[in-house]
Parts: sequence; structure tokens; C-alpha cells
Amino acid sequence: YLTKPLTPKLFFARLRAAQRVVQLQEELAFDREQMVRFSNELSIANKRLQQQALTDALTDLPNRRFAMERLEQEWALTQRGERALSCMMLDIDHFKKINDTFGHQLGDEALKQVADALRKTARAQDVVCRWGGEEFLVICPDTGATAAYQAAERMRVSVESLRMLAPDGRHMPLTLSIGVAEKGEGIADMNALINRADDSLYAAKTQGRNRTVLNS
Ligand code: GH3
Ligand code: MG
Ligand code: MG
Repeated sequence: YLTKPLTPKLFFARLRAAQRVVQLQEELAFDREQMVRFSNELSIANKRLQQQALTDALTDLPNRRFAMERLEQEWALTQRGERALSCMMLDIDHFKKINDTFGHQLGDEALKQVADALRKTARAQDVVCRWGGEEFLVICPDTGATAAYQAAERMRVSVESLRMLAPDGRHMPLTLSIGVAEKGEGIADMNALINRADDSLYAAKTQGRNRTVLNS
């Protein structure tokens, strides 16, 4: 509002001031909008980074870090109730020889195909992870030893049946040895569960490979 007497000088001065206020308000609203947009973009980028940090780039499977976190959660859940928990350690047989015979690039391709086969064969609740190198860890929540063994055998057979061919037509023999372990007496924590699966895997290797061993 303006008080009388009204002079053109005062009138225009007040109008300019009012225009400036409106302009500043608009700039502020724009800055706020920009800030919200930046913050949303940052949050999306952060999520993507976090996802990348937990994913294996070659196979697109969850990586070892994810596996440890997930197993920790599953272990905590079973501690509260009577839920079962099993895990399996899978290792490609004679993979060094595959690399030596067919080259590292085809070795990588084989790893991807094995990962795909595992992903497809796994039950809905199983969490298939790349543990490292040519090793995979599968977490089986709510699963006892017998069911875990059966699930492991299905995975083993699916990889055995891959029949992957090199570009020159040579057959690449891909098989898995698998160690299965169920949480139970004598297994105090999740590392002990992993170790038990590892022991079973070692037994599967020494017994001739391309086989599943339970709670060795
Ligand atoms: P075993 O049946 O006892 O498991 O024999 P192995 O040859 O599979 O076992 P070893 O541990 O001697 O060799 C594992 C090989 O896996 C050696 C390594 O070069 C290869 N490897 C590990 N990670 C990768 C990868 O990302 N790509 C390729 N192409 N090879 C890999
Ligand atoms: Mg290995
Ligand atoms: Mg191996």
C-alpha cells in the first residue's frame, strides 16, 4: 500500500521495490526446485553406486559382500525362531584347465553361463551369489539339509547339462562340486556354517568332483 500524498517518484520507487521482491521470491523458488532436483539425482546415483558395490560385474550376481550381509541377516532371523537355514558352496571343477585349454575370455563366458544356469535353477527363496573366482555361495533360507541337498543336485545337473561349445566346436566340460551345510548343533555362527559347507565341498572334490556332499 501507499500513503498519500502520492508522488510519481515515490510511486515508481515503491513499484520497483515490489518488483524486486517478487523477482527475489521467484529466484528463491527456482533455487529450491534446483536443490530438490539435485538431491533426487544424488539419491538415485547413490542407490546405483550401492547396488554396484554389492553386484559382481561379470555375472551380475550379488557379490561376496552382499552374501555376507545377507547371511548375517538370515542367521539373525533363525536365532529368534525355529527356522532352518542351509547354505551351499559351489566350485567349478578343473576350471584352471578350462582357462588353459580355451583361453581366459571363454573362461569368463563359461562363468557367465554357469551363473545363468544357477540363477534359473535356484528356487525362488535361494540367494545365489558369486563368492569369488569360480566359486558360488547359495543361501537357502527356511531350508533343511534334505531340501538343500536336493536343490544343490538340481543345480549340479543343470550345469552338467550345459553342453557349452567353444567357437571351434570343441565341447567345454563344465561340472560343479557342491558342499551343503545346515545350521545345527556344533555350528556356532555363520562363519562356522560357511566353513562346514567348505569342508563338504572339499569332500566332494576328493570323492571325484561333479557331486554334492552334505554336512561333511
Ligand atoms: P578344482 O576342480 O580343484 O576346483 O580345480 P580348479 O582348476 O577349478 O581350481 P583352482 O583353484 O586351481 O583354479 C581356479 C581357476 O579359476 C584359476 C583362475 O585362473 C580361474 N579364475 C578365477 N576367477 C576367474 C575369472 O573371473 N575368469 C576366468 N576366466 N577365470 C577365473
Ligand atoms: Mg576354487
Ligand atoms: Mg575349481
